Amino acid sequence: MADKQAVLRQVEFLQERIGEFYQDLGALKLLISDLVEENRQLSVENAHLRDRARMYTEEHVPAPGEAAHYLGQLYDDGFHICNVNYGSLRQGDCLFCLQSLQRT
Ligand SMILES: [Zn+2]
Repeated sequence: MADKQAVLRQVEFLQERIGEFYQDLGALKLLISDLVEENRQLSVENAHLRDRARMYTEEHVPAPGEAAHYLGQLYDDGFHICNVNYGSLRQGDCLFCLQSLQRT
């Protein structure tokens, strides 16, 4: 009988451990999801910065309106194009960006 009690306690202990393990797994899943999203945003940002860097190379002569088009696209994709926060992610509209867009 004593052995059965010990086995029961062991099973309960394992149940608790599994519960904790399951919670940890859930937290890790959320973390991975955040990292995947961050990675996606950084990839987009990186692609834009590469485009911008390409515009500054000597071989590339920008066509008329190309810079304005590029900046509009960058803004639509959710990034600042203003001098204050250029290239960083935008939360909602930015008055500085909108002013920059009107000037181009
Ligand atoms: Zn801005």
